[in-house]
Amino acid sequence: MEEVDCIVVGAGVVGLAVARDLALAGREVLVLEAAEGIGTETSSRNSEVIHAGIYYPKDSLMARACVEGKQRLYAYCAERGVPHANCGKLIVATDAEERGKLASIQARAAANGVPDLRLVEAAEALDMEPALNCTAALLSPSTGIIDSHAYMLSLQGDAENAGATFVFHSPVLGGRLIDEGAELEIGGAEPMSLRCRLLVNAAGLHAQRLAGQLQGMPAAHVPPTFFAKGNYFTLAGRSPFSRLIYPVPVPGGLGTHLTIDLGGQCRFGPDVEWIDSVAYEVDPRRGDGFYAAIRRYWPGLPEGALQPGYSGIRPKTVGPGQPGQDFVIQGPAVHGRAGLINLFGIESPGLTASLALAGMVRDLAA
Ligand SMILES: Cc1cc2nc3c(=O)[nH]c(=O)nc-3n(C[C@H](O)[C@H](O)[C@H](O)COP(=O)(O)OP(=O)(O)OC[C@H]3O[C@@H](n4cnc5c(N)ncnc54)[C@H](O)[C@@H]3O)c2cc1C
Repeated sequence: MEEVDCIVVGAGVVGLAVARDLALAGREVLVLEAAEGIGTETSSRNSEVIHAGIYYPKDSLMARACVEGKQRLYAYCAERGVPHANCGKLIVATDAEERGKLASIQARAAANGVPDLRLVEAAEALDMEPALNCTAALLSPSTGIIDSHAYMLSLQGDAENAGATFVFHSPVLGGRLIDEGAELEIGGAEPMSLRCRLLVNAAGLHAQRLAGQLQGMPAAHVPPTFFAKGNYFTLAGRSPFSRLIYPVPVPGGLGTHLTIDLGGQCRFGPDVEWIDSVAYEVDPRRGDGFYAAIRRYWPGLPEGALQPGYSGIRPKTVGPGQPGQDFVIQGPAVHGRAGLINLFGIESPGLTASLALAGMVRDLAA
């Protein structure tokens, strides 16, 4: 059986960042991807926001990886010419009760290492965004947007320049863990077996399934899988706002927010729809609930202006009504198997955090 040093399963943004880091560290890297190209699943079905790191629990992996990842991502984009914009975001209160919550959001952000949120009164917010309705807002100056595909292409280029190889149409069907690493069964047009000394499971929505298909992987360390679809609705024409607009969070979610892309178009969402299997259709009826929520901060939203857009699916390790999850980066110290690193539950802010997550995987692999 042929042997390679490291195999990364999955060429989403996280697998790409991991492959780049391992290759730059001098390791031989093979990336196996089931689809025809990079980033065809969650990595191309998101809001493309560079998150500041505001809402996550203090000291959570999400908070740490987001704040470090944001800084590294801005530096990377600037250095490599990846299209992005540091457009900022407003978290808007539309009544006295919501206004009362802004201070705690600001404090949470500061505790996470995001000390730059600033309270703006309604008049200043209106100067910034004339279409806005609010009683006050928090400005997050470090929030931005990115061309995620250009970013992923750049990561792939770096990885290949450092010697990594990508093979597409290559689903990993399963395998077995050995003393150090794994032996994998790979499907596709030319099925084959390969042995590696380090296996990084960056299979996104399918990471738990893949871990469960590895003989010798302790089942107790494979979390359950849940899928929470996020549906977007789009607006024809240019965005009425130049910054991202988020309502004050509601229990269990961030509320119906507006994000913009680098072309100046905007979309609303994602909402939360728990589903049993991967399916990306957007039910137009879900848009009905969007109008009232959006009009709280944008009263000028015309009737009938929203169109079903696209959707993405959050890889969850906890189900509806359960406490929020954190990212899981699981190495030998947790599951007891040498040469295996699993990444579970890499939902938002996984794009922002990708470079930081890659650094953590590289450190675990050292
Ligand atoms: C609705 C939504 C909005 C989001 N918005 C943002 C945002 O604005 N900002 C932000 O920072 N983050 C955001 N995220 C999170 C971000 O998109 C994800 O964290 C990130 O894309 C995850 O990347 P990944 O590489 O882990 O997974 P994926 O992109 O899903 O990649 C996994 C890859 O593994 C491959 N694969 C799976 N199983 C196998 C197998 N057995 N063999 C071979 N290949 C396999 C798949 O084909 C896929 O290409 C959002 C997520 C969602 C769902």
